[in-house]
Amino acid sequence: MPDRPFRITVVGGGTAGWLSALILREGGKRAGLTLDLSVIESTKVPTIGVGEGTTAVFREMLRVLALDEMEFLRATGATIKFGIRHKDWRHKGHHYDGPIDDPHRVAGGPAGNWLDRYCIASGKSVTEPHLFAQLMRRNRSPYARKTDGTLIPLGPFHHAFHFDQAKVGQWLRSKAGGIEHIDALVEGAERNPETGHIRALILEDGARHEADFFVDCTGFRRALIETEMGASWVGYGDRLPVNRAMPFWIDHQDGAEIAPYTLAWAQDAGWMWQIPTTERIGCGYVYSDAFLTPDEARAEIEARLGHPIEPRNDIPINAGRLDRAWIGNCVAAGLAQSFFEPLEATSIHGTIVQMMLFAQRHLPEVASGQFEPEAYNADVARQGDDFCTFINMHYVSERRDTPFWRHVAETCISDEVRDLLDKWRGKTPSRGDFAPFPAGLPHVEEQLYVPVLDGLGLTRREAAKQEMSGDPRLRAHARKVTENLRSEYRRAAAQAIGHRAFLDAL
Ligand SMILES: Cc1cc2nc3c(=O)[nH]c(=O)nc-3n(C[C@H](O)[C@H](O)[C@H](O)COP(=O)(O)OP(=O)(O)OC[C@H]3O[C@@H](n4cnc5c(N)ncnc54)[C@H](O)[C@@H]3O)c2cc1C
Repeated sequence: MPDRPFRITVVGGGTAGWLSALILREGGKRAGLTLDLSVIESTKVPTIGVGEGTTAVFREMLRVLALDEMEFLRATGATIKFGIRHKDWRHKGHHYDGPIDDPHRVAGGPAGNWLDRYCIASGKSVTEPHLFAQLMRRNRSPYARKTDGTLIPLGPFHHAFHFDQAKVGQWLRSKAGGIEHIDALVEGAERNPETGHIRALILEDGARHEADFFVDCTGFRRALIETEMGASWVGYGDRLPVNRAMPFWIDHQDGAEIAPYTLAWAQDAGWMWQIPTTERIGCGYVYSDAFLTPDEARAEIEARLGHPIEPRNDIPINAGRLDRAWIGNCVAAGLAQSFFEPLEATSIHGTIVQMMLFAQRHLPEVASGQFEPEAYNADVARQGDDFCTFINMHYVSERRDTPFWRHVAETCISDEVRDLLDKWRGKTPSRGDFAPFPAGLPHVEEQLYVPVLDGLGLTRREAAKQEMSGDPRLRAHARKVTENLRSEYRRAAAQAIGHRAFLDAL
């Protein structure tokens, strides 16, 4: 390798581009590598910009990158997210919450999700011992205030955020010291005829931009990984039935609380998201155009909300992932790598996990010029396939009231979901049902599945009773812990600062 810094260029200045650049900068630092990082984006190509919800991984990443959460909230108008409220999914008039904290972390006792088993066995909601369930119900923040004004976190759990990605992109860019930023349209690439590797990008003015490695974060355009490197798309359209998204905004009502959760509200031919930032509520109807025209979709939402909406767009969406996220000296991230309907906020989560995996496991070998993309490609493909299965599980509904819901029940539930449901007829889902994700990185496991299964009426009380009956001491301990956590967290939620008051005071 030449005796100079290793040059990595990220193409794309959306959330994925800036996150990738910052994670690579940090990864390089930790691995003792000297990197020369650039981000090329074109202000002529807009970012996606719909209003996004994250998972707890985003907050963990802020910590890893030594970025201040309060500054982030202030600068971007982001709000707190404790989980997702799923409305009308099981049947109309029903809702369930998916809080993202894990009470087993503070429960003491043996490893495993025995609080879930206990709650299911005793006919309680699995959200009973969750702090975040209480905070969701009361629209609170994750902090109380001491008399001297300082904030006290109510628990050790990472919450997530809702934000407007354009503002977050700008803020991340302001943290990108040492990373060159170029505003230019990439029109093509010059490749090494022997290896197929990209040697240089060709910019709109004909200039060449050389680097050793490239990250394609060009969103749905996939300007490098597909157009230049020949990756192909593995679609999930047979399992994920929605194929259009109609984003719109609604205003907060004066003085009204700001919900600290995403609302995922099932509709006649898909579902609507509501994601509040401090400025407004970002909404959208994700629907199937096999059952509704855009005009009908709009009319349905207006009837549901009781007021007119102004759609900002009507985007065709194509759920899926690349067959290979990494080809030669180019890796793709963000929308360039995969797309899922935003039902469980998997997109930005997936980008962060992938880039952390890349930075931790592969960056040193990449910088040494000796690399094998196969293991990474298998991990990233598995991540996407597991997201698809998890999202598909949400569609196991009792609803048959519209042609869309009948179609979903008859043709969309995947074999993977059917196999999991078969397995979980005789046992409560547990960590052992999931292969760990590499490098200890977070993945979709029982902690996320159990509230969804419970909310949809798919957990098995008899099986959980059987499991608990084998260990009366654990059952007694679980009862005590559940009661203690429920009353402790009720008290904590009563003392917590209201969500809006917390955000207003930042
Ligand atoms: C309807 C919808 C709802 C969503 N909701 C959520 C959610 O709730 N939670 C979540 O985690 N994710 C959500 N997502 C996904 C999320 O928006 C993206 O993962 C995230 O914003 C990252 O996008 P990106 O950076 O990959 O792409 P983009 O935002 O599209 O950015 C692409 C960048 O590439 C640049 N570019 C493109 N082509 C070129 C070129 N040839 N030369 C130079 N620059 C170029 C553009 O200028 C831009 O900077 C949603 C997406 C959609 C469509």
